[in-house]
Amino acid sequence: MEAPCILENPHTLPPEEAARRLGVDPSRGLSSEEARERLERCGPNVIEAGKKRGFLETFLEQFKNMFVVMLLVATAFSFYVGETVDALLILAIVVFMAVMGAVQEYRAERILEALRRLASPRARVLRDGRVVAVDASEVVPGDIIVVMEGDRVPADARLLEAKSLYVDESMLTGESVPVAKRADVTLPGDTIEPERVNMLYAGTFIVRGAGRAVVTATGRNTYMGRIARMVAEAGEERTPFQLELDRLAKRIAVMVTAIAAAAFTVGYLLREASLVNLLLTSIALAVAAVPEGLPAIVVIAFSIAAWNMARRNALVRRLAAVEALGSASVVATDKTGTLTMNEMTVRQLHTPDGGVYTVTGEGYSLEGGVYEGDRRVTVEDSPLLRLAALVAALNNNAAIEDGRVHGDPLEAALLVLAHKLGLDPGDARRRYRRLREIGFSSERKRMTVVVEGQEGILVLSKGAPEVIIERSSSYMTRGGSVKPLGVEERRELLRRVEEVAARGFRLLALAYRRGGAEDLEAGEDEVESRLTLLGFVAVIDPPRPEVPEAVRRALEAGIRVVMVTGDHPSTARAVAEMIGLPRGRVVTGQELERMSDEELRDIAEEVAIFARVTPEHKARIVKAYKERGHIVAVTGDGVNDAPALKLADIGVAMGKRGTEVAKEAADIILLDDNFATIVAAVEEGRRSFDNVKRTVLYLLSANLAEVATVFYAAVRGIGVIFNAAMLLWLNVVTDGFPAAGLAFERAEPDAMKRPPRRRGQPILGKPQFTYLALLATVETLLTLGLYHLYAPRGPGYGRAAAFLGLMYAELAQSLALRRLNTPISLGMLASNKQWLLGYLAGAVLAALAVTALAGLFHAAGLGLGDVAAIYLLAHLVVLGYEESRKRLGLHV
Ligand code: ATP
Repeated sequence: MEAPCILENPHTLPPEEAARRLGVDPSRGLSSEEARERLERCGPNVIEAGKKRGFLETFLEQFKNMFVVMLLVATAFSFYVGETVDALLILAIVVFMAVMGAVQEYRAERILEALRRLASPRARVLRDGRVVAVDASEVVPGDIIVVMEGDRVPADARLLEAKSLYVDESMLTGESVPVAKRADVTLPGDTIEPERVNMLYAGTFIVRGAGRAVVTATGRNTYMGRIARMVAEAGEERTPFQLELDRLAKRIAVMVTAIAAAAFTVGYLLREASLVNLLLTSIALAVAAVPEGLPAIVVIAFSIAAWNMARRNALVRRLAAVEALGSASVVATDKTGTLTMNEMTVRQLHTPDGGVYTVTGEGYSLEGGVYEGDRRVTVEDSPLLRLAALVAALNNNAAIEDGRVHGDPLEAALLVLAHKLGLDPGDARRRYRRLREIGFSSERKRMTVVVEGQEGILVLSKGAPEVIIERSSSYMTRGGSVKPLGVEERRELLRRVEEVAARGFRLLALAYRRGGAEDLEAGEDEVESRLTLLGFVAVIDPPRPEVPEAVRRALEAGIRVVMVTGDHPSTARAVAEMIGLPRGRVVTGQELERMSDEELRDIAEEVAIFARVTPEHKARIVKAYKERGHIVAVTGDGVNDAPALKLADIGVAMGKRGTEVAKEAADIILLDDNFATIVAAVEEGRRSFDNVKRTVLYLLSANLAEVATVFYAAVRGIGVIFNAAMLLWLNVVTDGFPAAGLAFERAEPDAMKRPPRRRGQPILGKPQFTYLALLATVETLLTLGLYHLYAPRGPGYGRAAAFLGLMYAELAQSLALRRLNTPISLGMLASNKQWLLGYLAGAVLAALAVTALAGLFHAAGLGLGDVAAIYLLAHLVVLGYEESRKRLGLHV
């Protein structure tokens, strides 16, 4: 019997029974063949089942264009009336164009797919009796998965075995406390998902322990998949540029159809070609001149950019984000871990009575000690040091193994401090049983544990100094006596906090209280009160070395960098100074609470730092900048950051620290959590935007020149200057090769020196339309001029010269457009291989068409001397015109 793709209600079954029904031996796992078969049958383990187009399909889609179909029909007709050579030539060119188009689109799609694969996690499964790592998308129902601390659960699964297994299911339930899981229970059928302790759910994280489980559902059948399905998924998203170009292409289609009809009528009146030929020519004109490929070019340019961004550690989840990045004008960034290294070292321990102990050593190495002047001190020396070390070691969920930190780096630094004070945290954790934990959150800015040891029950708290001071009623001196905390003392302590923070230290206060059984039941506020302050530690988290340069580049590019941090305003200001952020107003979360949205919007431009804010404030900050017309990027990692990430134009999630929720909400994932990567991504965004622009301008002006030439020629009585085959050939020479190459152009030298685009500024505004009109006029005049120059030798010569002239003019223009507004130079010729190949191929194809192949096009063959002369003339005219335009400051 075939194993099912979903096992219903697995939580009601004993583990062995679940495995049996899923047709797997839990000690060996599935065989590779069985796994392959199930993958085929049940589908990949992904939530968005993206449809994959093969090359053939992509190729055939190129013919879904109305004009191409008309052309094929007309070609068939001309075949029928006996114009076999013409018909075959047209057919060959059309197929060639379709292949070119398909190759490009196919490549873009493969790039996007590769990107998606990069983003997909891996999973450990038991296959053929061995544990192997596979792509999480290849996990199938019945697989035995092996999970351990730090893993993301790849699919829904029934536990077979769990060793002190704790799972973070906050992405599903919003509950941030890890859930304890066990294998040895069966549950009633109506147990709701969050309470099925014998199940693992796709997308959740193992925070502690290890386990084995049998997969009961994959992909869209998982709990996460069902939720995702409810959150209605939008169809294939198009970027604003694509929509703009879609609209433009439609308008051009109408215009071109009119012109083609006019050319047809004039030709008919002049009776200079057969009806079939005229028809073919007019339709070919439409095929050549309607830029159907424009929206696809956006995809191509943006997917190249997305690929480059991935290489620079920024994974793009939505293509539209590439476009938005290119125009980002505000980056609101977290401090810890993004601007700084998130490598914490405790440097000082300040006591409430004004003493300062110095802590030596670096990072998470246990070397170093705590000193009072020259004298090393330990927990033996005073009750204060002993209690401080206890808070550091026990109010702590981090671990350090072989120098690697698991958990919060700040807490890891506290473990190191405990060590340096002579207290072994592992030993302390054995001696004191943890009875309760009131977890840390950015909103609460504090954390408390209740422990029980020989001396009874203790409440141990740590958190932001203001918060802990407020909740303390007394303090301990170095001598060990406990004194009441009066108004005066509080003021003095806050002044010292301010002073130490201003030197760039992060501060964390430590406090304790003797507790009792009531502390296990009492409300959080009740437990975290009447504390005795033990002092505060000053922690250094150095800025990332590459950040100052990145900040400088961002500022130069006209981008406002705003720090949004949960940290103390003075610490934030000191770090801002270190990384070169311009000075500005510092707004705290408290002030923000009192401000209306309008007030916030009014001062937004002056603010440099938002300090002591919570994730909820972030969304308001993003909104304020958006309302001022900015295009806003915001970073985030926590579950509560999701609204801000969604609201922003560009949500940036942290790849290392980020929760799955934040990543899901984001447009871009920073693999290295680094601010510098955002700036690099902006640069790629700007580059791809320029490339879209140059390709669009190139194609449109080339097409416009073709239409204008045909039209003028008709009006001036020259008649049908280009036949169908010529028009299509022109299109291959211009669209096919150099245009594709332009999408690969490198960043312009001034790309990061100009201000960002304004919100909603179209690609094609007035300056661009002026550009198109002028350039098309220049090229048309050149083409008609060449016709008249060569026509005296015979009309076949005139047509050949005009044909070649226009092709070379367009190639010359592709060269000029490699810099939109700055002069080109010889040195950059070879810097874009794709373009260079396209240009050379185009030049050769152009020459072939008027020499060896001239007969096919019903043109007279030109000599090589003529070809060279026309090449030079076309380049002289077009480059001369373009470079003057750039110098005159007529920017596009
Ligand atoms: P950023 O928002 O730039 O990442 P941050 O990490 O300081 O900065 P939060 O994580 O919101 O922001 O922390 C706010 C404050 O809470 C910190 O400045 C610190 O005083 C305190 N704090 C941080 N981590 C803990 C913790 N594990 N336990 C107790 N208090 C903490």
